[in-house]
Amino acid sequence: MVVYKTAGFSLDEEAVIEKMKLRGPSTEKGLAVAREVSEDVEPWFVCKECHVESISGDEVVISGTVFHSAFLARILGKVNRVIAYVTTCGVKMSEHTRSFGDIFERYIAEGAESLVLDAAKCGLETFIETEWGHRKFSHVNPGSIEDWSTLEIGKIFDLLEGRPYELGMTLTDSGLMQPTRSVSGFYFESETPYFNCMLCQRHCPNRKAAFDEALYSSFRGTNPDEKGQAEMVN
Ligand code: SF4
Repeated sequence: MVVYKTAGFSLDEEAVIEKMKLRGPSTEKGLAVAREVSEDVEPWFVCKECHVESISGDEVVISGTVFHSAFLARILGKVNRVIAYVTTCGVKMSEHTRSFGDIFERYIAEGAESLVLDAAKCGLETFIETEWGHRKFSHVNPGSIEDWSTLEIGKIFDLLEGRPYELGMTLTDSGLMQPTRSVSGFYFESETPYFNCMLCQRHCPNRKAAFDEALYSSFRGTNPDEKGQAEMVN
C-alpha cells in the first residue's frame, strides 16, 4: 500500500542565516524572502514497502519492476525488502521560487527549499522507523551512482503507483524530478550501512559517512585519484 503523508515544517531563521551565510544588511532581505516563500511550503513524502524478488548480474527485480545497475545489485545482495519513496519540498513552493527574477532572492528561496526538503526527509525516516521498525538505515537513489541512471526514477514513481504524478511532480527527458528539491530512491536495512557519501569525495558539510576508498575502488575497478569522483546526489 502506498503511504502519502505531509511533513511538518516551520522556518528556522537561524538555520537560514547559517545555511545561506547571511551577514549585515543582506540578512533582513534574505529572511524576508525565506518567510515569503515559506508561505507556500507543503512538503510531503510517498513511500511503499517493496520486495527484492531477484538479482542477476546488473538486474534487480523489485516488486515486479526491473532496475539496471550492477552496484545496486551488489548493495542489495542480501536485502529482502526496500522502502521505495519520493519526497519533496512541494510543487507550490518550487513555483514560487521560480517566480523570483533577482539572483539573490532566487538563491535564498532555493536554500529555503533545501531546508524544507531536509525536514521532509527527517519526517520520512521517522515514519519508516515507526512503521517498519527500521533501525540501521541505508539509502540509495538513481543518479547517486554512475551505473544507475536517473531515467530509472520513473520506475520508482511506477512502484509508487503513480502517486507522485498525481501530486503534481513531473520528470524531465533525462529523468530528473521537478520540483528540483526532491529525492527518490530506496531505504533498506543492512548490517553494513551504505550511504552515497561513501562514494563521494566532495568537501561537504552534510556528509553522513566518510569516503570509503576501498568501496569506491572496487566499484570503479580503479584508483579514485586516477578517475576522478563519481557524481553524487543525496
Ligand atoms: S554531496 Fe551528497 S553524497 Fe557527497 S558528501 Fe555531501 S551529502 Fe554526501
